[in-house]
Amino acid sequence: MRTQVAIIGSGPSGLLLGQLLTNAGIDNVILERATKDYVLGRIRAGVLEEGMANMLVEAGAGERMRREGLPHEGFDLTFSGRHHRIDLHKYTGKRVVVYGQTEVTRDLMDCREKTGGVTVYEAANVQPHEFDAEKPYVTYEKDGVSHRLDCDFIAGCDGYHGPSRKAVEGKGLETFERVYPFGWLGIISEVQPVSHELIYSNHQRGFALCSMRSLTRSRYYVQCSLDDKVEEWSDDRFWDELRSRLPAETAEKMVTGPSIEKSIAPLRSFVAEPMRFGRLFLVGDAAHIVPPTGAKGLNLAASDVRYLFDGLREYYLDKSDAGVDAYSQRALRRVWKAERFSWWMTNTMHRFPDTGAFGQRMQEAELDYLSGSDAAQKSLAENYVGLPY
Ligand SMILES: Cc1cc2nc3c(=O)[nH]c(=O)nc-3n(C[C@H](O)[C@H](O)[C@H](O)COP(=O)(O)OP(=O)(O)OC[C@H]3O[C@@H](n4cnc5c(N)ncnc54)[C@H](O)[C@@H]3O)c2cc1C
Repeated sequence: MRTQVAIIGSGPSGLLLGQLLTNAGIDNVILERATKDYVLGRIRAGVLEEGMANMLVEAGAGERMRREGLPHEGFDLTFSGRHHRIDLHKYTGKRVVVYGQTEVTRDLMDCREKTGGVTVYEAANVQPHEFDAEKPYVTYEKDGVSHRLDCDFIAGCDGYHGPSRKAVEGKGLETFERVYPFGWLGIISEVQPVSHELIYSNHQRGFALCSMRSLTRSRYYVQCSLDDKVEEWSDDRFWDELRSRLPAETAEKMVTGPSIEKSIAPLRSFVAEPMRFGRLFLVGDAAHIVPPTGAKGLNLAASDVRYLFDGLREYYLDKSDAGVDAYSQRALRRVWKAERFSWWMTNTMHRFPDTGAFGQRMQEAELDYLSGSDAAQKSLAENYVGLPY
């Protein structure tokens, strides 16, 4: 089989890139290790920057998001027993859209099906080859039969554990990492969200986040120890802990119910440089991970796709290498700024085991300063809604 762009992974980055390429008449094939249902069942991010929302529309997959997504113009910070609203729209003229990653994935898959895009699910042992040379290819197995996919370029959209980054280890790949000494215990419950906007809470007992996926589905998180096990957290224990980390008037309004999903995620910052190795590109989580505090993971995957798609379109339609050559540098400039913002949000909002009462006071002073400074709030808002592409 032959295609122009071989895409490894059908997460949001692979699907979005595939759709934009297909719409531009650039042939592509997606190779995905898991089944379609498995990919659709993964519950992850849910806050879309305007740039990403616009890209979904550009890809032809934005109709349901425009209808069902919840535009948010601000969010609340709570600390020292009080709360302060960050008015995103006032400071930036922009909004974010609350719309689940699962729904983004479903819409992109539907679009791909309608436009005849090829995705090979349950592709085993996917491996990129010869990307240093002119004629790269990808090998994989399907139903026990070996296949070879010849291509011009390989897009490694295969997440943190995929084969693309592994294939470039020892070829000049440099990695940067910070692992945080705590995790997030998250639940989803079919209850009305406690507030129509997100609430980020800095509390002596640890960070908490009140988020949502729709007007009837809440997504809540509490900072937990990395030693905690999900089984140790009954729903009642979770709700009690969450309420204890919120101002009293918010806790009183909280509607509780059974969780339909409960999991613990570790937090890390990670960047791999460069993001291009000859004819292989690293895209999205394959190249970088952010702690979810700034809601940037999914949005960064989208901005990588923006730069790569523009580069590939220039290559095929304008016969220019410039965009492809600039991909890594352009993507990394934005990646590092989002890494910085996510690291800052994480440092400002969480309890760190080793910083003690001094660290707590520093955070409270920072949040107090923020709530009184237009300049600081503008900076926070600018980063939260997403820096320009
Ligand atoms: C548990 C969890 C919770 C998260 N919560 C948030 C959040 O609240 N907010 C936020 O902004 N971000 C969050 N993120 C991050 C966000 O979901 C990711 O940034 C986003 O999914 C990145 O998209 P991607 O397409 O680059 O990678 P992925 O979504 O990881 O997709 C990679 C795809 O590649 C496939 N693949 C892997 N290995 C192979 C292989 N060998 N062969 C073929 N295919 C392969 C995978 O099956 C997958 O479909 C979360 C991530 C996780 C893991």
